[in-house]
Amino acid sequence: MTGHAVALAGLRRKVFVRLRRLCGRMLECMLSASVSQAMNTSTAYPIGTPGQPWGEAEKAAWRARQRKQRSYADDVLSVIERLRPHFEVRSYGELDYAPDGRYPLFALRSRDWDDALPCALVTGGVHGYETSGVFGALQFAEQHAASYAERINLLVTPCVSPWAYERIHRWNPAAIDPNRSFRANSPAPESAALMSLVAPLRDRFIVHIDLHETTDSDESEFRPALAARDGKTLEPGEIPDGFYLVDDSEQPQPAFQQAVIAAVAQVTHIAPADARGEIIGSPIVAPGVIEYPFERLGLCAGITRARYKTTTEVYPDSPRTTPEACNAAQAAAVCAALDYALTHGG
Ligand SMILES: [Zn+2]
Repeated sequence: MTGHAVALAGLRRKVFVRLRRLCGRMLECMLSASVSQAMNTSTAYPIGTPGQPWGEAEKAAWRARQRKQRSYADDVLSVIERLRPHFEVRSYGELDYAPDGRYPLFALRSRDWDDALPCALVTGGVHGYETSGVFGALQFAEQHAASYAERINLLVTPCVSPWAYERIHRWNPAAIDPNRSFRANSPAPESAALMSLVAPLRDRFIVHIDLHETTDSDESEFRPALAARDGKTLEPGEIPDGFYLVDDSEQPQPAFQQAVIAAVAQVTHIAPADARGEIIGSPIVAPGVIEYPFERLGLCAGITRARYKTTTEVYPDSPRTTPEACNAAQAAAVCAALDYALTHGG
């Protein structure tokens, strides 16, 4: 081999080695891309196309996946029947969700209703899966309501969204969240029915407490479902361990919220803020309290003109609590809210 041939052979070898390295890198890239794609696929919500909002077909597919897991009639209507001697049971509508059935809606109203007295509204089960909201409202009605007789008129709707109660879900059958739908011409019949019930008394309420939960399934099921439904990317969140309240940012009542927190702290632990000083992405304004604009978001807690309004958020998945303690925390929150409103006036 001439010197020239040796140099050429060396150049060829170098080019070959570089090409092999480049191919290796490209292969690596392709492999890692397909792995991450596979991972995305495995973590994506099973309905719809990522990045595209659901249409009617996807909503129907979602509804077809929902199974009845418990009975509104057995768990809720039976208790309402039991309470009939102590309350006026008022029917305020019926949801016809064929083929799943019809769901009558009931409110408990003080038997000794007196137009001279102020009024209180207690709402539970706006999110049907949030069990202690339903049973906390019923527990308050059964164990505590009598002590408010002749002081305040009570209107209690224990289970606003019964189809979702049975399916342990957040939405109604049309994949609509009732608690973003408390607005004129509501797309959610659950929200529309409650708004019609409350409308004649809207200005008479001095206090409204809406009972909710924040659950581990919010992060594992409901937030992924929401992102998929709206064609958005899911940003991972953190579920706080403990009870917290949501106040109305448009009309905050910090002393009222603190009175409720203090009462609930006797029953269950209050959620600490995360490392950013937030609870579910909102800065805490006081221990265990965040704020949302109730009316702007179409939240249930914004449906009255009550001066004192709050949304409870019980955490039932904590190893430090039990279903009984969660129900008791909701009932304690209702009592504290009513006590504060009665003491401080509307
Ligand atoms: Zn809720």
